[in-house]
Amino acid sequence: MQQVTSNVFAETKCRGCNFGYLVTSEGVVMFDSPHKPSDAVALKAEMESKGPLRYIINTEPHADHWSGNAFFNAPVVAHEGVLNRIQSTDMAEHVRRVGLFGPDEPALLEGYEANAPMITFKNGMTLHVGNHTIEMIHMPGHTLYQAAVCIKEEGVAWTSDNIFRSVQTWIHEGNPDLWMTALESLRKLDEDIFVPGHGELCDKGYLNEQSALVQEWKEYVKGGIERGMTKDEAISNLTDLTDRYPMDVGQDGMAPVVMRMNVANLYDYLTGSWPSPGAPNFATYANWPGSR
Ligand SMILES: [Zn+2]
Repeated sequence: MQQVTSNVFAETKCRGCNFGYLVTSEGVVMFDSPHKPSDAVALKAEMESKGPLRYIINTEPHADHWSGNAFFNAPVVAHEGVLNRIQSTDMAEHVRRVGLFGPDEPALLEGYEANAPMITFKNGMTLHVGNHTIEMIHMPGHTLYQAAVCIKEEGVAWTSDNIFRSVQTWIHEGNPDLWMTALESLRKLDEDIFVPGHGELCDKGYLNEQSALVQEWKEYVKGGIERGMTKDEAISNLTDLTDRYPMDVGQDGMAPVVMRMNVANLYDYLTGSWPSPGAPNFATYANWPGSR
């Protein structure tokens, strides 16, 4: 766990998304939750020494950001799209997959209940906890339900997966144009310490790199469409963008799968059939052709 400021802590080296917490004068606020149950149990023990847990804030709907909510006893706050996604998740399949993360995990998953958001917002919301002000701002891009979460007194913003810092970017349900807008919105924030959804901490200096990458993906698929490729041909032939960055922790070997999912999604987007009803999400990528 990395100490980001005097009151903010973040973990960027565990399987799943980055997660962490803020210590206020009235207790602890947690940001996203560990994907791996044993990581959640360890985090819970650490936070208990810092004060009572008051809220959990989820930054987006992908399961790696909310799966660990279940191990904490506090109300969850998130965009309403996160609640909808959790409610439509096949929990038996979700638990089965998370149970594969290690030998100690299945026992921790017995009686699993997701702890879905109890408090939701559409455009934004501000929480006042002790001496801290936590502002949530809807920023669609990587999905339609992303939020940036700004801790005003600390100068820190949790960006969700609108930033993948120097690890493979997932665009499997992203809207590349909204994503560009989201990155410009992040640039306008007061906060300049960013905890991305995945990868190491960064600042506004990384925004151009993230923007160029999403743009490159979009142009790459657009090129295939202009050469007359069908969707299946694009998925089979457009395989060259896997080497820009390594995969994040615990995603070894998944680069070709992410590549196909990104191409499929961008193909639908660019041909006007987006969002496609059968679009894969993080919870179901195992069913995607060629995945492990
Ligand atoms: Zn995500």
